[in-house]
Amino acid sequence: MKTLNEKVILVTGASRGIGAAIAQQLAGAGAKVIVNYAGNAASAEQTVLSIKAAGGEAIALQADVSQSAEVAALFDAAIKHYSRIDGLVNNAGIMITKLLKDTTDEDFIRQFEVNVKGTFNTLREAATKLADGGSIVNFSSTTTRAMMPTYSSYVATKGAVEQLTRVFAKEIGSRGINVNAVLPGPTNTELFTNGKPQELIDRLASLNAFNRIGEPEDIAPVVAFLLSDDAKWISGQTIGVNGAMA
Ligand code: NDP
Repeated sequence: MKTLNEKVILVTGASRGIGAAIAQQLAGAGAKVIVNYAGNAASAEQTVLSIKAAGGEAIALQADVSQSAEVAALFDAAIKHYSRIDGLVNNAGIMITKLLKDTTDEDFIRQFEVNVKGTFNTLREAATKLADGGSIVNFSSTTTRAMMPTYSSYVATKGAVEQLTRVFAKEIGSRGINVNAVLPGPTNTELFTNGKPQELIDRLASLNAFNRIGEPEDIAPVVAFLLSDDAKWISGQTIGVNGAMA
């Protein structure tokens, strides 16, 4: 039997990058997937089409995770369509890298709005709307284990996500729901490669044990495992998925 058979799983930011690979992996394991996106409807539809072409089931639903009303409507629409939600992957995120001295108020606030408030918004909905026995995977980053210049406000958002993970795991555990965070290392998506010269990408690749950056397909199976019944005894943990970078 497929490991996620018939589970309904919401993946935020699944129009592209790591989220799209996760959506495809989950659908391949038998889940019905809600492909959330912020503005890129064509990419979200492409993710849905690729899932359906492989024999899976998915729908695309737009919502800006930083907006609590949109997140409430996202949960309600998903439940209306699939009757319930068993799993939540808080993958949507943005990254602005600048020296702290050059970071504007707008840079700082926008990252917190999407990465922290976005995660908070979906967790608050999940508190009452996720099915008993469900699973949640949040997205932190290996940058919380490194001390890398220019990542100060981004890494502050991911530190907050890790703390939300720990406390919420204790709060919602009585309903049989486990909550974990994964910490990818540098991964081949627009978020990571945008504006980076190849030399810098190669240098960051050399910091892990395998001398290459990760691919979204390196992250997706770990997330699928954490959403499966086999991972139920893992909760409140922060799990590096980074080729031994840190
Ligand atoms: P991408 O930039 O490739 O994709 C980001 C996704 O998030 C898109 O689907 C985008 O939707 C969506 N998104 C952005 N803002 C919002 C919002 N406000 N509401 C809903 N969806 C939104 O990012 P990655 O795949 O690289 O990153 C995924 C996660 O992994 C992030 O949390 C990131 O911090 C984390 N991470 C990434 C690493 C990397 O090296 N790539 C390393 C460590 C962690 P749309 O297409 O509509 O804009």
